[in-house]
Amino acid sequence: MNYVLYAVPFFFLLIGLELLADRWRGMHNYRLADALNSLSAGVLSQAVGILTKVVGLLTYTFAWEHLALLELSASDLWVWVFAFVFYDFCYYWNHRLGHERNVLWAAHAVHHQSEDYNLSTALRQTSTGFLFSWIFYLPLALLGVPPLVFLSVAALNLLYQFWVHTKHIPKLGWLEWLLITPSNHRVHHAQNPLYMDRNYGGVFIVWDRLFRTYQEELEEEPVIFGVTVPLASWNPLWANLQVYAGLWCDARRAASWWDRLRIWFMPTGWRPADVAARYPQEKPDLSRFRKFEVPLGRGAQVYALLQFIVYLLGGVWLLAQGDGLSTVAALLGCIWVGLGLYSIGCVLESRRWARRVELLRLTLNLPLFWLADALGVLSMGVAAWAALLLYGGLSLLGLWWLRQDDSAPASLTPSI
Ligand SMILES: [Zn+2]
Ligand SMILES: [Zn+2]
Repeated sequence: MNYVLYAVPFFFLLIGLELLADRWRGMHNYRLADALNSLSAGVLSQAVGILTKVVGLLTYTFAWEHLALLELSASDLWVWVFAFVFYDFCYYWNHRLGHERNVLWAAHAVHHQSEDYNLSTALRQTSTGFLFSWIFYLPLALLGVPPLVFLSVAALNLLYQFWVHTKHIPKLGWLEWLLITPSNHRVHHAQNPLYMDRNYGGVFIVWDRLFRTYQEELEEEPVIFGVTVPLASWNPLWANLQVYAGLWCDARRAASWWDRLRIWFMPTGWRPADVAARYPQEKPDLSRFRKFEVPLGRGAQVYALLQFIVYLLGGVWLLAQGDGLSTVAALLGCIWVGLGLYSIGCVLESRRWARRVELLRLTLNLPLFWLADALGVLSMGVAAWAALLLYGGLSLLGLWWLRQDDSAPASLTPSI
């Protein structure tokens, strides 16, 4: 059972309620481009997850079948409670190392790039976490936690974290001692030096209290959200590659092979001395912090939002197919989602080439859907082809409309 799939309507219901609360209280926690970028990262992560979840599943099941020290049964309630708590302990270390080591941060940074903080930020998930995160959950397999229990507590842990991504809920008294709350997770998303690399728990804050990584949210130190090396882009593919690309560049520039190798596993931010001397990086001055913004006309905002809804529905459809999708079909789905979300990012960034990328995307839909039909992923009858052509035609009309919109004054703060 895919818990995330069933949670999707609740995610959007709660995002709708948060938008209403924003309006009611006169707060501006949402900007359209930022929210679409976060949600795009989420859709991409789920689509890629269809292909990559096998890494975690296979390694976990193999370790459980061959190396488990105990035989725990999924019919015992205590096994579920134990697994839920112990999973969070493993999550703490996965998350902490995800902040403390260069290559692990490259995967996790995606979740932190938003400079806003709202429920859409919660869905801003990495697409490359599968590379290493499985290692941190092997202790559960070694203790004999059955895969079904492991998958369920992992999903519950992830779903729990949704509601803490909001600025509307203040501190929650004694719960701040026990659970991850909106207040202590706001601290986790901060780039203020006082708050950075704190509050790593997924459900329980007790690990942070225990291992001295806890920091309370202070009234005199308002949180500035985001990362110290800003993403400065609305492209969800680049969001997933930015830190890897920086590490790759530094590794190539380093004179010593030892530095080229170890840079990936060194503490986050570590750079080879010769590279840091030749290519210095500015330290951020938070007193002059400005959120990343691209002036965007109202028409382009509406166009990007409508196109995103198409890809959101497509992503949900892919998830709903579950294990029924073949690897080739899932790959095709990922290409379709990746290209579409990239193109929406180009529109949001007002790129010169955005219209050309859109035309390419719409044209590529024809061979992609033809291939999906030929492979038996979709049955493209006359009605389906007509719907695809109608969608293409309406999109072209929208693009033509955007040409008119170009002459309209651009909004500097596109907010919803
Ligand atoms: Zn984090
Ligand atoms: Zn978070």
